[in-house]
This record gives sequence, C-alpha cells and structure tokens, in this order.
Amino acid sequence: MLRHCFVIRHSCFFIINDRVLTYKTFCGGIFETNCYLVSAPEGWIIFDAPDGACDWLSVCNVDVKLLLLTHGHVDHVQDVAKIKQRFNCPIGCHADTAPMISDREFFRSFGFELEIDPAKPDFLIEETPARNFLGLEFQVLEVPGHCPGSLCFFARKDELLIGGDVLFAAGVGRWDLPGGNADLLFDGIRKKVFPLGDNVTVLPGHGPPTKIGTERLTNPFVR
Ligand SMILES: [Zn+2]
Ligand SMILES: [Zn+2]
Repeated sequence: MLRHCFVIRHSCFFIINDRVLTYKTFCGGIFETNCYLVSAPEGWIIFDAPDGACDWLSVCNVDVKLLLLTHGHVDHVQDVAKIKQRFNCPIGCHADTAPMISDREFFRSFGFELEIDPAKPDFLIEETPARNFLGLEFQVLEVPGHCPGSLCFFARKDELLIGGDVLFAAGVGRWDLPGGNADLLFDGIRKKVFPLGDNVTVLPGHGPPTKIGTERLTNPFVR
C-alpha cells in the first residue's frame, strides 16, 4: 500500500509545540501504517485503525470518543472493529469506505489475503468546507485516485492536514490498486491539497510528516 516507508514506531509521545492541537502517532501493521490520535475539546479522535492501534490506545490510557477513517484500505482499517468494541466510539467515513469495512470478503475479492472483522460506520462524511468533530473544526477534502472515497482532514487553524495515502514526504499514494486513478490523484493534490498553504504540515498514512511547501517544490511526482 505504500511507496515510501519509514520506521517510526514510537509509542506514546505527545507532540506539543506552538500548535493548539495535540496529537500522537502510532505506526502499525506489515505496511507500517500511521494513525493519529488527536485531542479535541470534547475528547480524543483517532484517525485510522492499523493493526495494533487498539492495544496502543489502551496503553496510552485514553478514552477514544470518535474513530474517523481516511480511506478503506485494509492496512488502515484492520483494528476498526476492535476499537469500536473496546471504546464503543462512533465510526465516521466516506460512503465509498463503508463497504470496505463492512464486507469481510471485500479485500479477498481483490486478491488480498488479509481479512478484517466487519464494522459498520455510524455516520458518513463527504467533502465540506467545515465540519465539527468533537468541538474541532475540519475542512474535509475528497481526494480519490489512490482509493475511492479517500478523505483528507484539514485543521485550518492549526495548519495540519491528516491526509491518508494521498501525499507523502517525497512520494504520493499508489494509483495502481483497484479503484485507483492517476489523473484523479494528481489533480486532487495540485488543485485541492497544494492550495491549502506551504506552511501546512501533512500527517501522512505512511512515513514521516512533511510540509506542503516542501512537497510542492521538491516532490518528484507532482512538481
Ligand atoms: Zn496505506
Ligand atoms: Zn491506502
């Protein structure tokens, strides 16, 4: 699922700087998939659910109030049912992501051997200039091409983009998986992601954080 992968298996470090937003990163599963735990005014939000995320959340001793999914690729949703069960938190995702988490056979039909415990979304999310999640406002961008229904969550005030597998440090998401489309991906990055601003920090689905400005100037795929 990844083009670039860096090992950042740190456990429960808080990243606190001049930003208002506090977040923690966990990297789990064979594809080294990142998830991000974000502190919202009304509770913790976890973005994506790679293998091991549920146990990590327990170790971190947080009470997760909401699970949001950037997209439905199996490495990002492996622990969805577990997290739902343990924390009894609602799940929000795009309509195209719903069958990927509710149908046990979904990935098998594409030839992936991995199987997930099924779960149902509690609500659907689509592109919108502003939506409130637990007291935190995000602009939601729909950037398909890597995966149908792929969402990027932008905290404008904090200049932070939880981007899923759209844009990586010196890379982009694969476009050759089922439902992928290179034109949609590159168009989305150029027309939706880049205009958010050079100073915006991208928290990607794989690898280390990066800045939009860095990628706009140096990313070999979308320069
Ligand atoms: Zn991924
Ligand atoms: Zn993916």
